[in-house]
Amino acid sequence: MPVRQVQVYEKILKANDYVAQQNRQLFDRAKVTVVGLLGGPGSGKTSLLERTLEKLSGEGQKAAVLVGDLATARDAERLGRFEVEAVQLTTGGACHLEAQQVHEALQGMDLEDLDFLFIENVGNLVCPASYDLGEHARVVLLSVPEGDDKVAKYPSIVRRAQALVLNKVDLLGAMDFDEERVWNDARALNPDMRFLRLSCRTGEGLDAWLAYLDELRTGAASA
Ligand code: MG
Repeated sequence: MPVRQVQVYEKILKANDYVAQQNRQLFDRAKVTVVGLLGGPGSGKTSLLERTLEKLSGEGQKAAVLVGDLATARDAERLGRFEVEAVQLTTGGACHLEAQQVHEALQGMDLEDLDFLFIENVGNLVCPASYDLGEHARVVLLSVPEGDDKVAKYPSIVRRAQALVLNKVDLLGAMDFDEERVWNDARALNPDMRFLRLSCRTGEGLDAWLAYLDELRTGAASA
């Protein structure tokens, strides 16, 4: 009975949005800037966080991360070496994080002590789109080897994001990838979104990414 299924799904999303709103209030009260990272497997979410944590700690800023994965604690282990709190959220098969999982993870954290909290979602461009976690900004990460058609193929995640980051731009010369196509598709879906390009491998574009994070923190960027 398809009608019933739709109703159940809407109910789940409504409950999720309610908890997301509570998360957002906690974040605002603690004055911590919360950034959600979304992207396919291998797009470089954890690598971007590694580079980011490195730079932020160099500037004396305090950050923590919540990392969602279907299984394993590998990403939290990768990020834990930066002396930041890294909490692995293992979804046990679910393809996205939900606001309630984030809410529970927050209980043991000292949010007041943080400048930034990053939430790396489970790697895919579909399920995480519908679940607000309470983050101030959602950033979609796309990498050159994934192909230049992904923005057009996964419109809902792009529509609901504040920024699109193209990673692995050092590979542009080696692949048939039309960068203009990506930006044009994204602009058509979400004219207000911020576009950034970088390479976690070479470091190109990381300063602009850090400047964007700073804008989010100071409220200069509309999130
Ligand atoms: Mg990862």
